[in-house]
Amino acid sequence: MSFEVIVIGSGIGGLTAAALLGRYHKRVLVCESHAIAGGAAHSFTRRGFTFDSGPSFYCGLGNQRPSLNPLRQVLDVLGESLQVVSYDPLGHYHFPEGSFPVYCDAQRYREAVAEITPQGAKELAQFEQRLLSLYDCLKDIPTIALRADWRLIPILLSNYLPTIVKMLPQLGIIQGSVGKVMDQYVRDPWVRRLIDLECFLLSGLKAHGTVAPEVAFMLGERSRAGVEYPVGGSGAIVAALVRGLQHWGGELRLNTHVEQILVAEGKVLGVRLRNGEVIEAPVVISNATLWDTYTKLLQEEDLPPSYRQSSLATPAVDSFMHLHLGIQAEGLEQLTGHHVVVQDANKDITEPGNTCMISIPSVWDRNLAPEGHHVVHVYSLEPYADWCRDELYQEKKKMRSQPLLCALERIIPDIRERIVLELIGTPLTHAHYLRRYQGTYGPAIAAGKGLFPGYQTPIKGLYRVGDSTMPGIGVPAVAASGILCANTLVD
Ligand SMILES: Cc1cc2nc3c(=O)[nH]c(=O)nc-3n(C[C@H](O)[C@H](O)[C@H](O)COP(=O)(O)OP(=O)(O)OC[C@H]3O[C@@H](n4cnc5c(N)ncnc54)[C@H](O)[C@@H]3O)c2cc1C
Repeated sequence: MSFEVIVIGSGIGGLTAAALLGRYHKRVLVCESHAIAGGAAHSFTRRGFTFDSGPSFYCGLGNQRPSLNPLRQVLDVLGESLQVVSYDPLGHYHFPEGSFPVYCDAQRYREAVAEITPQGAKELAQFEQRLLSLYDCLKDIPTIALRADWRLIPILLSNYLPTIVKMLPQLGIIQGSVGKVMDQYVRDPWVRRLIDLECFLLSGLKAHGTVAPEVAFMLGERSRAGVEYPVGGSGAIVAALVRGLQHWGGELRLNTHVEQILVAEGKVLGVRLRNGEVIEAPVVISNATLWDTYTKLLQEEDLPPSYRQSSLATPAVDSFMHLHLGIQAEGLEQLTGHHVVVQDANKDITEPGNTCMISIPSVWDRNLAPEGHHVVHVYSLEPYADWCRDELYQEKKKMRSQPLLCALERIIPDIRERIVLELIGTPLTHAHYLRRYQGTYGPAIAAGKGLFPGYQTPIKGLYRVGDSTMPGIGVPAVAASGILCANTLVD
């Protein structure tokens, strides 16, 4: 069988682009190196426990319509549905001085802040109002309607002119940082730390590094649509995309590592797999990171030297330490699912091990763990450069997992006695299983310091999707990258 499009990688960005192109009647093949589809969003199972390898925080995936989540819009176009569980508060933030519930409901959220700092709550309300006015404009244009070339202009003018006019006064903050908005409205140090933390959780950067629309969307979506967890875990989202891909005639091959993208005279010819097989196609879309695509999949001479050099100079967010645990659930009936623990107030929130994210999804979906047990994922940023597989590796792994366990003790004090299964992941594990350059979370492109690159490359027929392309990191964002790429490749 011949293919019109080959997609390298089955991350959410790759699957979205592939499934949509299938829907547009293209003959599509997805080559995934791993045995499980989904990339950072895959689920895996050990001894009856189903773990999310990465994301667990989602908005707008359920039945509410219209949904502003680009992933939901894609699933709608594919005719796929998901079962979700809604919950509120969306999480608890645990600072050294005390814990704080974060509600989707904007009023309850502000009331909870007011109990700590009444003046801060007022400032937070002004800050939110400013960002929500941006959200109110952006939300009127569904991502599924967009493309990334000049043909977007007539679409916007004929369908969304009033929204464009409404957006004009917002142009100043669209590319600006959240930090700028925060500086304008918020003096209170407690609220400033809260905003920095929420930005860090989203982008891996604090408020001055995070672009305003990203946080505007997060605030708007969580107060409007609420947060949800997909029944079956993040793997259920991947399964829905794969079903959609296959329903529309696309093919997914697992354990199929692409060794090289074949290029001649500036034009893509297809790919060569690790087993030597060559598959030809006039269009190749890489869902590997920009660093992996440009160093591992292409030959140096395939790209203009200055383009290659400036692309590879893109800074990367750190990798992760992960702890995946199966634990005994007895006596934990009041347990909630999401927690963020900041361990030391004197250290920066971005310091490795200082901010730990905890997700206990069996609180929402009991089937993720055997009866009487919970499934737990704790993770924190960790630099890749400090790691190598030498004789000290096992010992270091154990040692570096300790801050994660300490964080978890804030939620479940006797956690160490409850563990029945423990899997520790290092930046090397993350890089290996996700096939990602240095196990990075994604590009660290700070607001005002550049834009995420688009879907095009200097090679004719070669495109890129995923979290190192516009609009950036996170499941909704990479789904948007897949939409932009797929829509632009068709009329
Ligand atoms: C710990 C963690 C928690 C997160 N939490 C959230 C969250 O709660 N909410 C949220 O929205 N986002 C979250 N994110 C971010 C989100 O998961 C990612 O931004 C997104 O899933 C990345 O998708 P992607 O399309 O860029 O592809 P990736 O997930 O990077 O997938 C790329 C795929 O390409 C494959 N591949 C690479 N090279 C080759 C090759 N040569 N041949 C064949 N296949 C190849 C890989 O195996 C992989 O499957 C989290 C991320 C992490 C790591």
